[in-house]
Amino acid sequence: MREERIAEKSAERAEWRRLYDMIGKLLFDHGLEPSPANFELCHRYLSGRDGELNALIDKAIAKDGGLSEAIATAISAKLDPGLSTDELSRIASDAQGYLEQMTTILARSGDDARDYGEALAHEAEGLESNASPTLSVKTLVDLTKSMIEKAQAAEEDLRRTEMQMTAMRKDLATAQHKANSDPLTGLPNRRALDQHLRAAFENARRADTPLALAICDIDHFKQFNDTHGHVIGDEVIKFVGSSLGRAASNGDVFVARYGGEEFVMVFERASVANAMATLDKIRAAIAARELKVTNTGQSLGKLSFSGGLAQINIQDSPGSILKRADAALYKAKQAGRNRISAAD
Ligand code: GH3
Ligand code: MG
Ligand code: MG
Repeated sequence: MREERIAEKSAERAEWRRLYDMIGKLLFDHGLEPSPANFELCHRYLSGRDGELNALIDKAIAKDGGLSEAIATAISAKLDPGLSTDELSRIASDAQGYLEQMTTILARSGDDARDYGEALAHEAEGLESNASPTLSVKTLVDLTKSMIEKAQAAEEDLRRTEMQMTAMRKDLATAQHKANSDPLTGLPNRRALDQHLRAAFENARRADTPLALAICDIDHFKQFNDTHGHVIGDEVIKFVGSSLGRAASNGDVFVARYGGEEFVMVFERASVANAMATLDKIRAAIAARELKVTNTGQSLGKLSFSGGLAQINIQDSPGSILKRADAALYKAKQAGRNRISAAD
């Protein structure tokens, strides 16, 4: 058993080494800077999971004979607009500015209050020694008036800063949503899936509840794109995404676009049988429909997807359950597509 695991680990390491070398070769062959963005682009291309990315890169290579820095940047931006560095840096500098403003206002209020206290004490001494009571009272009134004005001004400044901070909080929420969503379907993206899966794993372990995961992949989608074009292809991805996404109205189901024409569903507190029932219903409903272009009524024929389902087990990590679901998906494809298979 132990030896088997060691063998598995060393095969996995050999695979990583191969991927690493291939990424390096791709970067150097196309004269691309080994930046994190280019590294990610090559990694995604070579791991071959993201059909749209691969199609864009292959097209660029066929057209221009290779990738350039500009094309690589354009492809990265098109695929994952995520959060631009400009936006992030604006939000960060706003936050810093507001904090400084608050600190200044609070420090000024503190200084004013201390000056006021000292002046009061001084005048009170004057009153006690009875040097000039009328003058002291007038000074006290003036001091108090000035302190009230300063307090009002500080309150006004604080209110303004608070309003700016409320606007910034909204910007942050929008930014966070954008960073976790897939722009085409509006579904959670891979980054959101990673986060969700880690939390779902922890919950399942802690509460000792079942957890199932499915990978769904549209059948013969390359052919569909070739026949009807990329734009209609995008619409179909949105349609399948929203059909799967409706299952997520049940809080225990999470649906993300995994990449290209692939989706991942996480079923918390669900056995494989329960998840299978939910997913197979969606599969059958989609497969039964004749798709039409909304505006023109042009028929697109029928479309289906296949799915692979796996149940969490004690040794699982998010990566290993995804791997088993992927193997089950492969089984579904091999068995003729338009079906859901469970992992062994
Ligand atoms: P299979 O049944 O084995 O899954 O066959 P397939 O043709 O669906 O599989 P393959 O992975 O070879 O092709 C996926 C295709 O999906 C490639 C690419 O043209 C298309 N694709 C991936 N992402 C997008 C996208 O965002 N928009 C569009 N329109 N097409 C995409
Ligand atoms: Mg695919
Ligand atoms: Mg496919």
